Amino acid sequence: MMPSDFTPCPFCALQCGVAIKGDSSAVRIVGNPNDPINEGHLCQKGLASLDILHHRQRQFHPLAREGRSEPLTPVLWSTAFDMTAARIRDVQRKWGADSMAIYGSGALTNETAYLLGKFARLALGTREIDYNGRFCMSSAAKAYVTMFGLDRPTATFEDVRQAETLLFVGSNLSEAHPMAMRAVKQAKRRGATIIVVDPRRTPLAKAAQYHLPIRPGTDGFLAWALLHTIIEGNLTNEAFIAAKTQGFDDVRFQARHYTPAVVSLLTDIAPDIIESVARIFARSPRAMVLHGRGIEQYRYGVESVSAFLNVVLATGQIGRPGTGAIMLTGQANGQGGRELGQKTDQLPGSRSITSATDREHIARVWGIETARIPGPGRFTAGEFFSAINRGQIKGLMVVGANPLLSAPDTPAVQSALENLEFLAVLDPILTETAEAADIVLPTGGFGINQGTVTTVEARIVAVRPLSSPDRTSPGYQDWQVLKELANRLGADRYFPYRSSREIFEEMILATKNSASDYSGTSWSALMAGAMPHWPVPENRREGTPRLYENGFATPDGKARFSILLPGPATELPTPGCPFHLITGRTATHYNSGAQTRHIPGLNRPADVVFIHHHTAGQLGIRDGEPLTITNATDRRLTLKARVTRDIRPDTVFVSMHNALDSAVNHFIPASPLGLSGMPEFKHTVVALSPVTPNDAAHEETDNSRTVDTRRSIIAP
Ligand code: SF4
Repeated sequence: MMPSDFTPCPFCALQCGVAIKGDSSAVRIVGNPNDPINEGHLCQKGLASLDILHHRQRQFHPLAREGRSEPLTPVLWSTAFDMTAARIRDVQRKWGADSMAIYGSGALTNETAYLLGKFARLALGTREIDYNGRFCMSSAAKAYVTMFGLDRPTATFEDVRQAETLLFVGSNLSEAHPMAMRAVKQAKRRGATIIVVDPRRTPLAKAAQYHLPIRPGTDGFLAWALLHTIIEGNLTNEAFIAAKTQGFDDVRFQARHYTPAVVSLLTDIAPDIIESVARIFARSPRAMVLHGRGIEQYRYGVESVSAFLNVVLATGQIGRPGTGAIMLTGQANGQGGRELGQKTDQLPGSRSITSATDREHIARVWGIETARIPGPGRFTAGEFFSAINRGQIKGLMVVGANPLLSAPDTPAVQSALENLEFLAVLDPILTETAEAADIVLPTGGFGINQGTVTTVEARIVAVRPLSSPDRTSPGYQDWQVLKELANRLGADRYFPYRSSREIFEEMILATKNSASDYSGTSWSALMAGAMPHWPVPENRREGTPRLYENGFATPDGKARFSILLPGPATELPTPGCPFHLITGRTATHYNSGAQTRHIPGLNRPADVVFIHHHTAGQLGIRDGEPLTITNATDRRLTLKARVTRDIRPDTVFVSMHNALDSAVNHFIPASPLGLSGMPEFKHTVVALSPVTPNDAAHEETDNSRTVDTRRSIIAP
């Protein structure tokens, strides 16, 4: 085994360490025993991660087509680079620099995310860049930055192990971050109380002492009722509030309205349960809140997260061992991906693109005049596709993302991709979006790229190329593809890199003295196994695992209470659509499923609808039978019923990983957007009906692809 065969698993933000063992006759993957999260263990996705190297949709050579009706066919790398640059220039010549947009991803390495932001602003000269994390972490990010000053969890899984109370809200940790359950179980063995707020009885909920099967979309109200109980019961930490916070008087005033009795009507959680949970949390010596997309992916996601952070502040449960708040980032590099410059409103280091000081710093690092940095953009990722359909974006470069499946309102995304004059996809996998492209450039991905990622805990960790003898043709790393394109676009002087290390070294300079300061770490330290949590300034090279032990990252060091009030879900049940439909992750799939649906051992059908057995009985549906879901605009989807007792009777659940013909985002409207630019991704309302013999037969997912991409392998 080579030392380079230690790298993180690519399938969730825990980034568990994996090690490749064996020789050409038998290669196997095991957990890295020195990794602090997984301690040598892996979940089923981690165990299958090596299979991504042999994935039938993995690409090692570029594809292009003459016209949209033509098939994608392999082309030489040099041809693909020339064609891409020529098409970009053509679009920008006709429609202006901002007609070309970039759609990035939280699955890219830090170096790729950094370089992509620079590529957009200097090689394309466009202000239109945003990334798929807009649909993922933006609500949590806005709440944390506003209230605490930094967009990262305040604590780590070591704190989880030490906590006495863990309050999970909208997180299916057991399936979305399976190895993190080790810390939860360790806490429980030490006597911790686990409280789970979730419309579904997930494995995490089954492990909890308290499961609150809340009505979808009402979590923010629950938080205000917890606050109400804490205030009325004199359970606030007044010394902490006085010394470390601002704005509590307004919150105290607002909280008067949210009595458990009133909130019980909204949330469907009994008043005495609300009061019990509030008392347990406030009286606990060490309590934490951990939350996922289940509360964030709503129009009022920022407000709901803020309300739970109010609970943390009011009780002083932050800045000490076993306390704090953790936003459970989902995508592999969801943390690093959002702080290194691919957001439309940010420059590297989570710097504001409208701040003169921040712009000057980045301009110095890039060696340009400040005025050359375009932005902020007109559109967030959630608005890209409507902008395309209005003719405001004419060309799109999608990098490491699959918006055809993962963005809301699938039909609108489909027509947007068709309306583009030019679509390029940079991805190691031939995703559904790539199949719609004019040009596909295979990037590095797992096993090929070298660089760093930043985990759910804000640890910066090394990503290493695999030297395993069974490795397939190497292809280009991401940065090499971007550099080749930049060269052809006349921006070669800004992309002089000879290695990902050189990009890393420029990147950490760009973050120096910023909110997300990486400048105190080094390439050699990370490659030798260091895993510091940022901020890691030059005078604190060991990093900062736990935040806010000595004050918050605000100008005066005090946290801000939030008086943002939650509202109802955008769509509420009606006689025509009486059921809540919620979406989420399952244990064997990752993101849009483009990677995991084709890995043997992981490709369990995701296209099922979880339905409560009482509801199924009323509809005359049995397990495995087809069930048609219809939304308010009469869009329909037929999936097999998975009858269960582990969900509210008024709610059904469909995974976000389905193939295009069963993609749940057919139902998810792209607007209205919340304060963070987040659409109401988690929830809609639907009608359910059994499929009768006269209905069209349910079509099984057809995983066949129309593109013959294996006709030849063209080396780079
Ligand atoms: S928990 Fe996440 S990072 Fe760890 S092995 Fe599983 S998918 Fe990979």
